Amino acid sequence: MSDSSPSPTALIWDDALAGYRFRSGHPMDPRRLRLTVELIRSQGLVGDAPRPVLAPRMATEEELLLVHTREYVEAVKRLSAPGADVAEGRAWGLGTEDTPVVEGMHEKTAWLVGGVLVAAEAVMGGRVRRAFAPAGGLHHAMPARASGFCVYNDLAVAIRWMQREHGARVMYVDVDAHHGDGVQEVFYDDPEVLTVSFHESGLYLFPSTGFVDEMGAGDGYGYSVNVPLDVHTGDASWLAAFEALVPALAEAFRPDVIVLQCGCDGHVLDPLAHLRATTSLYERLVEIVVAVAEEHCEGRVVATGGGGYAIYTVVPRAWTLVWGALCGVPAPDEVPARWLEAVRRESGQDVSPVLRDPPGAFPPSARREEVEANNARMVQEVRRRVLPLVTGWGLAF
Ligand SMILES: [Zn+2]
Repeated sequence: MSDSSPSPTALIWDDALAGYRFRSGHPMDPRRLRLTVELIRSQGLVGDAPRPVLAPRMATEEELLLVHTREYVEAVKRLSAPGADVAEGRAWGLGTEDTPVVEGMHEKTAWLVGGVLVAAEAVMGGRVRRAFAPAGGLHHAMPARASGFCVYNDLAVAIRWMQREHGARVMYVDVDAHHGDGVQEVFYDDPEVLTVSFHESGLYLFPSTGFVDEMGAGDGYGYSVNVPLDVHTGDASWLAAFEALVPALAEAFRPDVIVLQCGCDGHVLDPLAHLRATTSLYERLVEIVVAVAEEHCEGRVVATGGGGYAIYTVVPRAWTLVWGALCGVPAPDEVPARWLEAVRRESGQDVSPVLRDPPGAFPPSARREEVEANNARMVQEVRRRVLPLVTGWGLAF
């Protein structure tokens, strides 16, 4: 299944994308995006063909309305104006600690959506095989409500766009530490979109959803798959769950394209979640997704960023590995000294000089055996529930 040959892959970026910032000190800090792109560039992994940088564009209102209600988009626009009535935001999930009202947020977030649309256009139009839009991945936004740092749901808009323009069957894979609840909600009754989310169990983490019994509704029953991982889950157990489900689900579903939300807040150093992944996990997960895409959908992958709040020590390294895996050109392990020095000057923090956290870099959880047993049982439960349904799709599991 593995295919390591280089493939045309686009990075969607412009410095304007670093404008999605709520306030100083907010965890969703765009410096992580700039540092990621600088690290990718410093390794010489992007530039001309076959690995171009494509500029984003602003999503149109019509495109936002593929997912969001007109009333909500109008409210976000009103709240974006200088001197807006912040109290009005509460009805729309805005003006909270997580998702404050910020001047210009309609335009800024429409740019993030447009970046993922550029990725989808480049992949579905055949210009490149895969694309990575690290500023996207705002998977909590609902059709009429902001949530968890997310105003508009770029992933859902891009999926709807691919359905409308290309009649695509879309497999959505989400490896963020938090459940991909907004994307699940939008496609909950849609059998043309298979959503698969791996995340820390909602028993312990926002948004408190994503349990195995959330399986879809109506015609979409069986097309929502949730894999809630135990707290302290490390690479081996996470990878085992992923390998037990993703290739088999793709085999049964036969997607035309895979959309991958690649939040890296499951890393052991992330301050918001309680998982214990290392950077190497994200490279491996993407390699698997790429191999599955090569087998079933001519290699088409539209990947985004997502969560990731250890902005200096983890995110740039994890997403540089993601980028290399998407390109089929593994990123060199050594982090350039120039980049390390610039980060040290900016943050006062020392970052690991290698992209891949070495084995033993972090002590294993004292609960490791229990965690692995819990996850193995949970995966069996997912397979027990999903198996009879996917064989009903007429294909082998
Ligand atoms: Zn997250």
